[in-house]
Amino acid sequence: MADQRQDETQRHLSVETELVHAGRDPERFDGFVNVPIVRGSTVLSPTVADLEGHTGRYSYGRRGNPTVEGLEEAMTRIEGGAGVVLTPSGLSAVSVALLSVLEAGDHLLMVDSAYQPTRRVCDAVLKRAGVETTYYDPLIGAGIEELIRPTTRAIYMETPGSQSFEMQDVPAIVAVASARGIVTLIDNTWATPLFFRPHAFGVDISIQAGTKYISGHSDLNLGTVSANARCLRQLRLTHGDLGITVAPEDAFLGARGLRTMAVRLARHQESGLTVARWLAQRPEVLHVLHPALPEHPGHALWQRDFAGASGLFSIILKPAPKAAVDAFLDSLDLFGLGYSWGGFESLAIPFDCSDYRSATRWEPGGPAVRLHIGLEDPADLIADLERGLAVLAETSEA
Ligand SMILES: *Cc1c(COP(=O)(O)O)cnc(C)c1O
Repeated sequence: MADQRQDETQRHLSVETELVHAGRDPERFDGFVNVPIVRGSTVLSPTVADLEGHTGRYSYGRRGNPTVEGLEEAMTRIEGGAGVVLTPSGLSAVSVALLSVLEAGDHLLMVDSAYQPTRRVCDAVLKRAGVETTYYDPLIGAGIEELIRPTTRAIYMETPGSQSFEMQDVPAIVAVASARGIVTLIDNTWATPLFFRPHAFGVDISIQAGTKYISGHSDLNLGTVSANARCLRQLRLTHGDLGITVAPEDAFLGARGLRTMAVRLARHQESGLTVARWLAQRPEVLHVLHPALPEHPGHALWQRDFAGASGLFSIILKPAPKAAVDAFLDSLDLFGLGYSWGGFESLAIPFDCSDYRSATRWEPGGPAVRLHIGLEDPADLIADLERGLAVLAETSEA
């Protein structure tokens, strides 16, 4: 249905407008603005002929649900591909997407800076299924050609890199892949389709951890996988065969978050840059890993390909004892210490990629901290960080 509507409506609305209108159908739901939460497994047919002929719009809860379909349709229009499936988490979106394109004997090229649990999908699940993975340097660009084998079926990207924020040259990699019929996938959670449009760059499959900015409220795990016409059939089959479903309540919350995603992201972007620029001038900070800052090594790629930046970036502190970094983080009032990001609130975590990167070395020169800048007043966030950095300095000296 989503595909049909896309054909009908060649309106070229902006993504901001689609975020508000796509996937809603007030006429169908007695005028209610939002698609209601429809719970259910069994769907009744009036006659055996209807049951056997599948004449109804729905046949079984796992195979289709109005609330889930509403969000799928909205995401389809926002991604600009051929269709979207929903999954119960971002990581299941990654695994379903990879399983839909790979089979025993295939070779996968996986970016070394991928979200760490994505590596487990490769090193555990795909390995057992007979798929071999080679990790590649996120800065490889067109040089990826040298890693391609006759069995290479897919290239997976994530840009900027998880935690370390390396920027990938997506068009260069897509050019190499498409010349050889290799499928390309990307985890686009950081940028969302508002700030980077994978299908417009020729990427076949676009993955979102809906847990982050789609939800926007830290109250949900959700994943979305968007495919172009080339990959949609196989994606839907794999998703269906694996029995993946999303609860209607979760789809409802995802759609609810989506309506305000553009205004939230504008604020995350602005406040994120304000805080990042302030941190870049601090004597305690060695580097700020934020691709929208001109000093970032991937800034030119970001500027060429992206329309904006979200609220997640990292900092490398000047060398300091672990106890001092812990005291800095423990002293923060407004930054919660916790995994995930993309909600309304600010977060901080210490991190270290050196244990698990395999194609590159992680030697940042000091302790690393990832920050998510929420919707608070950035002046309050800066004051909080300023107090924290004073604690860092005091504890380092002690
Ligand atoms: C959080 C995240 C995921 C996984 O999402 P979950 O809902 O936690 O499974 C995948 N990719 C990226 C880039 C993420 O940040």
